[in-house]
Amino acid sequence: MHSDVLVVGAGITGMMAALHLADAGARVTLVDAGENAGTWANAGSLHVQMQSRFMRLYPDQVPAVEASLPLYKAAAEEWVRLDAFYGPFELVRKGGLMLAEGTVQLRFLEDKAKRETARGLTVEMLDRPALDRIAPWLGPQIVGAELCHDEGKLNPLIANARLLAELGRRGIVTIRDRILGIEQGSDGVTAQGQSGTYQADQALIASAWGAGDMVRGLGVTIPTRAEPLHMNITEAAAVSIGHLIQHAERSITLKQLGQGQIVIGGGWPARDRGRIMPPEVLAASFLGNVALAARLVPQIGGLRVIRTWAGMNTTADGGSTIGRLPQASRVVMALPGDAGYTLGPLVARMAAGVALGTAPEADMGRFAPARFAA
Ligand SMILES: Cc1cc2nc3c(=O)[nH]c(=O)nc-3n(C[C@H](O)[C@H](O)[C@H](O)COP(=O)(O)OP(=O)(O)OC[C@H]3O[C@@H](n4cnc5c(N)ncnc54)[C@H](O)[C@@H]3O)c2cc1C
Repeated sequence: MHSDVLVVGAGITGMMAALHLADAGARVTLVDAGENAGTWANAGSLHVQMQSRFMRLYPDQVPAVEASLPLYKAAAEEWVRLDAFYGPFELVRKGGLMLAEGTVQLRFLEDKAKRETARGLTVEMLDRPALDRIAPWLGPQIVGAELCHDEGKLNPLIANARLLAELGRRGIVTIRDRILGIEQGSDGVTAQGQSGTYQADQALIASAWGAGDMVRGLGVTIPTRAEPLHMNITEAAAVSIGHLIQHAERSITLKQLGQGQIVIGGGWPARDRGRIMPPEVLAASFLGNVALAARLVPQIGGLRVIRTWAGMNTTADGGSTIGRLPQASRVVMALPGDAGYTLGPLVARMAAGVALGTAPEADMGRFAPARFAA
């Protein structure tokens, strides 16, 4: 089978890239191995401010994330546009609160807020009386917070289902196959899958943790790694939480869906069981994650957890990777950096623009795969 663009990976990035390409008139083949997509496990936080968890775990990657902050802000705006066009996805953009439980954490947030303001984010520090006006349900030990007005939340299951339906309307069906390798010839690319061979003028790689291995033979070593993470969701709560909630030091995100349930996550580990099996839920992560949520919002302590699961995130060097491979110019990478569900649609549009030859909308140099060239 021969198409204009072969899209590998049908998570949020691959789905959105396929939509943009098809809408521009390209014949698209979409192939996905059906293995552990972060897109179908994620929490639906629209992250813009730097996450304290990430800063603590990956300090060497913070410069790449900090330099990309304008991309995060633009990515949240991209989701607002998508919500208007294909939604509603229960998208709410009231902002995100990062909570402090003491003065050291408050100082950390104040410094972070200055750095983020310098990169164009809309952030402010709130003291406890100011917090009480917008989040009176917070625990008594919270002394203040950073509020990032650019942040938001949505229901990813609704968004994914709607975008999948849009693909179906355009006649794009995901082919289940695992791509083992890609070669570039003089007139196109050939991707060898476990079940088939795919030929196209170009390939767009949106296979997240699976991307590094796939393109290693093409002269780049992109250090994509799978990171198994834990999630919980409670029954519907009486409390009304409008903001995305995080903590200045501890790993947590919590937010309320449109039907009242509280989604609790934020990077607690799960156990890797390989690429085919979903990661295994760890009791320590389950207990630690919900206990922390109940400490921050005491009313959560009275709720039942109705489901707990784990999924595969992807890490690389902190930055997004968008653009043509230096030694295989028919292969376009579309790999969002940290918080890839937030970034996915914008990264997809930028990568599709590269494949279509339309002018890039941002300075693409920072995201170029050439930084990984062997
Ligand atoms: C528990 C959890 C919570 C998260 N919460 C958030 C959040 O709240 N906000 C946020 O912004 N981000 C969040 N993330 C991160 C986010 O989900 C991912 O970064 C994002 O979904 C990546 O999207 P993607 O389309 O690039 O890749 P994925 O959704 O990971 O999809 C990659 C696809 O590539 C396919 N693939 C891989 N290798 C091959 C191959 N060789 N051949 C064919 N197909 C292949 C896989 O089958 C998979 O379907 C979370 C992640 C997890 C795990």
